[in-house]
Amino acid sequence: MTQKFAFADDHFHDECGVFGVFGHPEAANLAYLGLYALQHRGQESAGIVSSDGTELYLHRAMGEVEEIFQPTVLAELPGSLAIGHTRYSTAGDKALLNAQPIMIDCNKGKVALGHNGNLTNAAEWRRKLEHRGSIFQTNSDTEVIVHLIARSQARNLSGALGDALNQVEGAYSLLVLTQDELYAVRDPRGFRPLVLGRLPLPTGGEAWLVASETCAFDLLNAQYVREIEPGEMVRISRSGIESIHFAPQKPRQQCIFEHVYFARPDSIIFGRSVNESREALGRLLAREHPVDADIVVPVPDSGVPAAVGYALESKIPFRMGLIRNHYIGRTFIEPSQAIRNFGVKLKLNPIRGLMEGKRVILVDDSIVRGTTSRKIVRMVREAGAREVHEVHVRISCPPTISPCYYGVDTPTREELIASSNSPEEIRKFLGADSLGYVSLAALRQAVNDTEGKFCTSCYTGVYPTDLVQLEVRESNGNAQGTKNEAKDGSALENSLTERPVAVEREN
Ligand code: SF4
Repeated sequence: MTQKFAFADDHFHDECGVFGVFGHPEAANLAYLGLYALQHRGQESAGIVSSDGTELYLHRAMGEVEEIFQPTVLAELPGSLAIGHTRYSTAGDKALLNAQPIMIDCNKGKVALGHNGNLTNAAEWRRKLEHRGSIFQTNSDTEVIVHLIARSQARNLSGALGDALNQVEGAYSLLVLTQDELYAVRDPRGFRPLVLGRLPLPTGGEAWLVASETCAFDLLNAQYVREIEPGEMVRISRSGIESIHFAPQKPRQQCIFEHVYFARPDSIIFGRSVNESREALGRLLAREHPVDADIVVPVPDSGVPAAVGYALESKIPFRMGLIRNHYIGRTFIEPSQAIRNFGVKLKLNPIRGLMEGKRVILVDDSIVRGTTSRKIVRMVREAGAREVHEVHVRISCPPTISPCYYGVDTPTREELIASSNSPEEIRKFLGADSLGYVSLAALRQAVNDTEGKFCTSCYTGVYPTDLVQLEVRESNGNAQGTKNEAKDGSALENSLTERPVAVEREN
């Protein structure tokens, strides 16, 4: 008898990706390509809304960008303006109903929205709005913004958007499309990235692009212009580009985990190369946690740049000892005779000859529950006829002790292995000979954060916003009674030791 095996990936999941186009005759095609480059930010659903100047056209579906947007579908999305969204649900369930962009027809005209991030006071607003007669179509927090726009007394959309956004808290990098305008907005703390680009047209003139990451511009041969600033609303229309600062400045809280894991290494995030940050993390990891070994092996793909940095710094050879299968789907038929480590073997396979008999430094970007890391350690140990002598695990971020409320899908605090276990306990659980996490100070150094502009809440448990009314996320299994402990970024490090955390097996 066979049974279905659902592949459970023990990693943080990316949030969402957004892409916008203004002034290109093939706007929907460009949006499709942009979303394709941003696919790593969300694989559950995707959507594009286009405008031909008079009408908005929407297509959304569950699945990945390539399977959703067949040529026949793109042909039904005419016009020179478009926004696209690819989603991994972080608030609201996974149904198509919650796929984005969301499109409405309200007193401000026809409007479509695509949101990357998570609002921390959405449930409170939803209750208030429902009490006042608003009827919600989805359970996504983005719809709160839609209702607040519709209720605003402002005469134009930029005013209504400003009104709405000044009432919500949390993370949003937002694209808004009307019949003839594209808005790109970033929350006042700038949690999630959002960048502006331009694409010269063969006929003269240029199209404007907005994306979660610059890698989407590279695919289109577009030029990266700048970041959308925290608290800035950029309005792009036939009259050109207008920058509106809709909210007072707040201390920056750029998500540091974009540099550790989420963003593609070929992107520039918050003005800095992600690959550079990851290699620097590897170098600092090698300085903080040196160990005698024969080879440095990354857990691919995300562990590769940090492993390169570790190898360069330690002068220990870098070897691709684990090969990743990139074509992994969601469910598999598992043979009735259970295969040891079946789930992780679907994704990774060791090159036995490279590792047998060796002392291996295994570099990964994070440990979430620890279950997958444990299987990988066991797989490396068992690689080859002769047992691998030693497995030393090195992690290019500090222990993750607390969930994210700003648009990243994390398990509950209880499920995070580092929330309740010491590094020594984690090492024992993994079955590793030693375990070393990079320190928070080194992480800040790797992203060149000299001014405290990065959010590090998942490593400190100290949050820069009020965390109120998180029922929506709790029902999604994400919020677990975390209190607001700081109103700005000033005291973030107080609760975490700055010492490198390392443990060795007692022999
Ligand atoms: Fe990023 Fe962690 Fe802050 Fe969430 S809590 S925004 S994952 S640094």
